[in-house]
Amino acid sequence: MQETSILSSTFQNEVDVQENILRPKNLIDFQGQQRIKDNLSVFIRAAIERGDSLDHVFLIGPPGLGKTTLASIIANEMGAEIRMTSAPALEKPKDLAGILTNVTEGSIFFIDEIHRMRPALEEMLYIAMEDYEIDWVIGQGPAARTIRIPIPRFTLIGATTKAGQVSSPLYSRFGITCRIEFYQEEELVQIIRRSAKILDTSIEESAIALLAKSSRGTPRIANRLLRRLRDYATVLGDGIIDDEIVRVSMERLGIDGEGLEQQDRNILKTIIQFYDGGPVGAETLAISVGEAIESLEDFYEPYLIQKGYLKRTPRGRMATSLAYNLLDIPYDRKPDENQGILF
Ligand code: ADP
Repeated sequence: MQETSILSSTFQNEVDVQENILRPKNLIDFQGQQRIKDNLSVFIRAAIERGDSLDHVFLIGPPGLGKTTLASIIANEMGAEIRMTSAPALEKPKDLAGILTNVTEGSIFFIDEIHRMRPALEEMLYIAMEDYEIDWVIGQGPAARTIRIPIPRFTLIGATTKAGQVSSPLYSRFGITCRIEFYQEEELVQIIRRSAKILDTSIEESAIALLAKSSRGTPRIANRLLRRLRDYATVLGDGIIDDEIVRVSMERLGIDGEGLEQQDRNILKTIIQFYDGGPVGAETLAISVGEAIESLEDFYEPYLIQKGYLKRTPRGRMATSLAYNLLDIPYDRKPDENQGILF
């Protein structure tokens, strides 16, 4: 079985009890993403003042950036109930119909990984989102007929790591779209400081800054690494996380000062050494590095792209000159070999 790294395991939706303690409950505690917070607070206030439900919200962004957190915050700020599920858990139309007919007026229904919704269910969802009704087939064979069942006005919050895979009819039914970006180091510093306080852990300011740099712009990773640093500080030191504890722990965890781990380098090295720097298709690349395509696309690539080591082109993935520099491999591609970039 393949070993899962501490970083990429954030990609799996594992149940993490401690993560819940660290999850902010309101917009004020949600660090960063200022524009999203400002807009959401206006839309939430307006909906509350009108006594209306909030428009449907679409949250886009890599794993661990706060989509689920933001959904519960929205529910909390609206004073509404929230029901959470993920698209792969909804198998049959009756699974979705069961939830939609049971939502309460003004409540929030959160669907994670909405790009994985089955087409038959997606169609039911369009009608529910737009008309607050569902089509339900009763009877069988020639006697079968469709009836429309009214459902309460609810707010759908859909989250995805892959906006491009969401069909346009579904996409167009969301009134509010929030694209969550990787966090700046200063924002991660605030998140780590808050988490350390909640976890009752002593961490020096300079160690917070080092940790923020290694957290791949991702709060979930920052929180996870903080807990591991706490372990190392307890066993190797006096319980206080200082620069030395961060340095030793990161080395043991195989994470460098930029948050890159061995597999990140392996991906870049494979593109350069096996595929002449690319382009190489995502599936071929995933097989070559022994990684699931989802974790390659959702976890590794977004950060490598953001850091400028990798680019997506119409013909596949390519390593950039920065990747060659990182790996100390001479860069000898001609500029005209570069392809158009796909985002
Ligand atoms: P996603 O749903 O995008 O995968 P989550 O909402 O589960 O990510 O966030 C992962 C963890 O990171 C949360 O438990 C929370 O503790 C923390 N987190 C995420 N975003 C923020 C933020 N803006 N401020 C503080 N903590 C955050």
